[in-house]
Amino acid sequence: MKWILKKIIGSKNERDIKKMRPLVEKINELDESYKSLSDEELQNKTIDFKNRIKNGASLAEIELEAFAVVKNAARRLCGTTVEVCGHDLLWEMIHFDVQLIGGMAIHNGMIAEMATGEGKTLVATLPVYLNALTEKGVHVVTTSDYHSQRDSEWMGHLYKWLGLSVGCLKNMMPPNERREMYLRDITYGTNSEFGFDYLRDNMAYDVEDMVQQKGHNFAIVDEIDSILIDEARTPLIISGPAPYSSTQYSELQPATSKLVKRQRKLCETLLNDAKKLLSQEDYEEASFKLYQVFEGMPKNKQLMNLVEDIEIRKLLEKTKLKMLADTHKEISRELRQELFFTIDEKGHDASLTEKGCTELNPHDPEMYVLPDMLSAMSELDANESLSPDELMNKRKEIQDDFAVRNERIHAVDQLIRAYTIFEKDVDYVVQDNQVVIVDEHTGRLMTGRRWGDGLHQAVEAKENVKIEKETQTLATVTIQNYFRMYEKLSGMTGTAETEADEFHQIYGLDVMVIPTNRPVRRVDLNDQVYKTQREKFRAVVNEIKSAHLRKQPVLVGTVAVETSEVLSKLLKRENIIHNVLNAKNHAREAEIVANAGQPGAVTIATNMAGRGTDIKLGNSVVYLDQEKLNSKEFSLASKVEGKSLQKMLIDNPCGLYVIASERHESRRIDRQLRGRSARQGDPGITRFYVSLEDNLMRLFGSDRISGVMEKLGIKEDEVLEHPMLNNSIEKAQRRVEQQNFMMRKRTLEYDDVMNAQRSEIYDFRSEVLKAENPRSLLMDSIRNCVSAHVIDIQKDNQSKNDFVTWLNSCFPLGISSNEIPFDSPSEDIEEFILKKIENAYLIKAKYEDENSLKNLEKHLILQSIDRHWQEYLRSMDSLRESIGLQAYGQRDPLVEYKREAYNLFMDLMQKIYDEIASSLFRSATSIEAMEEFFKSLSGMRKTTQQSSINPTSAGLNVNLSSADQSNQPQSSGPNRKARRNKKFKKR
Ligand code: ADP
Ligand code: MG
Repeated sequence: MKWILKKIIGSKNERDIKKMRPLVEKINELDESYKSLSDEELQNKTIDFKNRIKNGASLAEIELEAFAVVKNAARRLCGTTVEVCGHDLLWEMIHFDVQLIGGMAIHNGMIAEMATGEGKTLVATLPVYLNALTEKGVHVVTTSDYHSQRDSEWMGHLYKWLGLSVGCLKNMMPPNERREMYLRDITYGTNSEFGFDYLRDNMAYDVEDMVQQKGHNFAIVDEIDSILIDEARTPLIISGPAPYSSTQYSELQPATSKLVKRQRKLCETLLNDAKKLLSQEDYEEASFKLYQVFEGMPKNKQLMNLVEDIEIRKLLEKTKLKMLADTHKEISRELRQELFFTIDEKGHDASLTEKGCTELNPHDPEMYVLPDMLSAMSELDANESLSPDELMNKRKEIQDDFAVRNERIHAVDQLIRAYTIFEKDVDYVVQDNQVVIVDEHTGRLMTGRRWGDGLHQAVEAKENVKIEKETQTLATVTIQNYFRMYEKLSGMTGTAETEADEFHQIYGLDVMVIPTNRPVRRVDLNDQVYKTQREKFRAVVNEIKSAHLRKQPVLVGTVAVETSEVLSKLLKRENIIHNVLNAKNHAREAEIVANAGQPGAVTIATNMAGRGTDIKLGNSVVYLDQEKLNSKEFSLASKVEGKSLQKMLIDNPCGLYVIASERHESRRIDRQLRGRSARQGDPGITRFYVSLEDNLMRLFGSDRISGVMEKLGIKEDEVLEHPMLNNSIEKAQRRVEQQNFMMRKRTLEYDDVMNAQRSEIYDFRSEVLKAENPRSLLMDSIRNCVSAHVIDIQKDNQSKNDFVTWLNSCFPLGISSNEIPFDSPSEDIEEFILKKIENAYLIKAKYEDENSLKNLEKHLILQSIDRHWQEYLRSMDSLRESIGLQAYGQRDPLVEYKREAYNLFMDLMQKIYDEIASSLFRSATSIEAMEEFFKSLSGMRKTTQQSSINPTSAGLNVNLSSADQSNQPQSSGPNRKARRNKKFKKR
């Protein structure tokens, strides 16, 4: 029904595109009419547009004209050259109609989905130009430094001709240059450059050091899925060394490694037993053993080999299901208790069993067991013999003990994961004595990034390299929340459709699928499904070989660096010359890609996702009649010499052949890889090879697939190929996608809590930084601080005295209890005290240099903010950890988290104000100023008898170094300035 409706009225997307067609006509007409203008007249349009905008014209009003100007300028540039990344490049592009549509979609704040090679780089020039006319800044976000440079130089040719300035951010660029880049009309850079600049700006102590001067007006994100979805899993973090050290990992490593070895041995024995039992046809007993190995060492190679047998695989699957049922709870527990630890591979989690705890420390197995804090606490509460103080201490003891054990257990769990789940050269590489993460999606080395939660330290301990200190977060923001700050956000990519939901929910972004300029002539062949990886690799190599022999270029996509190396070895054995493109030789990328479309080229690439590199075909690679192929009417279904084109493309292989050695976790990344083939109307074919041993199949799809395989009647050593299989594989992928989306969403929900607080703190901070008159902000803070303390005052004397003590310890007021109008309403008390502080401060200010004092005042507030914000980030980290434990109770951890976070934040603000208050009189712009001020105080002391002021006891010189001790205030007689104080004091 839905399908029929779609047929009749077209999808929403098609209708939207249709609506844009008349606009395209309009742009082309305008472009036509601009042809008669001189270069100068056309260039003057930029100034003209800017003026119109200043006079109130909206961007929508000038959109079509502006697009036509850009297109017209592009035409005029044809035949000129521009230097891009050190090479001269001939400009030969004029915007196609579909590119105009893409440009409109982007200007409207949507994601333009355009296939690889459709020229998205050029598409961006349209909305970039239009939006840059407002002079509020346009940021173009790319996936790598290389692309930022390439695109800014390449498209810069056009922008500059039109009279706009273009900047480009580079890694390690000094702040003054960055600032300069942000001040230009258009700024290119990677997401981390933009994001880290934002964080650094919010750590600056001088407005001059802030670089993002124009704020966040409009961002266009290239390869938007790569950035806003794949990279969005890890937040941007600026960190510094943590104040505490962690030596746990190296201490626990020897014991844990031994434990892992023992478990390995144990699993080998279990496997041998299982094999024996299987041969005796004792399936139940065997299935228990297999289950144990699966729980204890899910990545055990022997186990993987064993389950190549479909019967054994099914036996294990069934057992796993059975063990989840209530009836088998006890058995499964017993089975697991025979192991030293268990691993939940899907959840990436490890936990020690009782046996493991004993093995680790036979004398005190309890060392590795978390105490039951809740019952210990309620036991305490029930104990009536304890005084409140004792109770408090006991509670603290319990909490401390819990924390210490928790940390130790956590370290062991992470070490176990490091040994059993994280594989060298797949998940990470060791380089220059450092553990470097390999990005699971792009295969690139993520130098400098670290796994959180101690995992990185655990892997470092495992690899016996230097264990870096735990670091502390100084500033952090998720990619999601960074990009949500932009007034307008949009993007482009070859693959957004499968993630349209997430883009909409998280970013409010809609996807528009833009038709290709020429009909797509890519044939996606059915997946080839094998039972084992060995068979699969053999088939892949054979297929590469035959394509290579008939001189068809092949791009082999792999998921992991390891796979690309295995394939490379196999190809070497067959004497097939090939290039390998992965994290390890990323420097040669441009060169390798330039050759990848040449006849007979074989290129193995670890995940081409999000690379934004375009593989062009060599001259003799398209064997079919090129002219016919290029004609617009020619579609896949049309016939050549009585044969369908589709058939001909398969029979007469031409264009780029993409062979993938595995399906990726998400369909989108598969599509990205396929998209490397058949760009701009070229022919091409793609095919995925799958085995039941692939991670995706093992973890998410095996039972279904084996079900389908059964239905299709698969025999041993056969390859399977059927659309039904493609479907069920995609179902497995959908499950992974869903799971990953939920994870990102969860991360974001947590970050959202902090985000509101971050913006509040950052707003406060930048207000201070930019303030002409920081003193008023300073006094506001003091007011907040005093007001909180005034509210706390109770009727009794004790509380009043506490208040006075506090006052005198912070401020040199020398005030006594009976001076304060305690009986008045609290606003009046507040006002009274504030006046006194303000006056005292005025005196202090007199001794200071006016300009330096302004800086000092700013510094004082900023320092208090930063110190407590960082402390707050740390508390939030541990809050998140502890909140995880509460998930077992009836409460929703997120709600708990929000409540706790709110309390922490209130605390944070109070701490900031308190610190500002207590440092107000403890800092000075120079020793002399401080000294003079002290002198004046001692003068005050002589004249005000009741004064309890004692500068030293109030800690007035805490900010001065010990060398300055000699400058402590002396009770010398009042000098000129102090006399003025007297006057003031009397008033
Ligand atoms: P995408 O980012 O969409 O994969 P690119 O922007 O890298 O594609 O462009 C791919 C190729 O298409 C480039 O070599 C570019 O020169 C070419 N191209 C783009 N637009 C045009 C055009 N309008 N006319 C001619 N060539 C174009
Ligand atoms: Mg691109």
